[in-house]
Amino acid sequence: MTDQNPKPNTQLRLAEEVALLLKLPQHLCKQRGMCCRVATFRGSLSHEQIGAMAADPSHPLYMHARDFHSIFLPYPDEAAVRAIADGFVERVRKQTADNGGDPDNISYFHCKYVQEDGRCGVHEDRPTGCRAYPFPHESTVYHPGCGFEQRGVENWNRISEILVTLGLTPKLTPADNNIKES
Ligand code: SF4
Repeated sequence: MTDQNPKPNTQLRLAEEVALLLKLPQHLCKQRGMCCRVATFRGSLSHEQIGAMAADPSHPLYMHARDFHSIFLPYPDEAAVRAIADGFVERVRKQTADNGGDPDNISYFHCKYVQEDGRCGVHEDRPTGCRAYPFPHESTVYHPGCGFEQRGVENWNRISEILVTLGLTPKLTPADNNIKES
């Protein structure tokens, strides 16, 4: 049962727990580089749409879009992505359709710094979002087999419980923390 009116010290404890839950342990990463090879932005946005956000400092997603746009390049079509990550494409298409979007109009991207073996070519200088990735959130689409998936889902479920306890809606945005959203 949730406490609808938690005391201030309880609120603080819960807020601290959320902060911990938002940081997934990096040792869970299998270092396959899949999230660098195939990613989406806000579910489906195109390179042009992201570029427009990245050029507008007043846009709420400006920093996030600028980081993403500076390192991710678009795939020519879905077939090219399916050859690498068919299961991921199916997950993204399903989420897009479930959210009322068009699964035939999704843009996929690959980072220009990911190496053949899946490692990051700019590891020491990688963007902040790469360091924080992935962000536990209901909209995060994990690649099949991703080492973060189980913990990420568990953490998001607990975060949602806490937010409800605090009287908040569980609608955190990954925008400031996650440049590789899927
Ligand atoms: S900068 Fe490195 S960690 Fe970030 S997406 Fe590219 S290859 Fe991956």
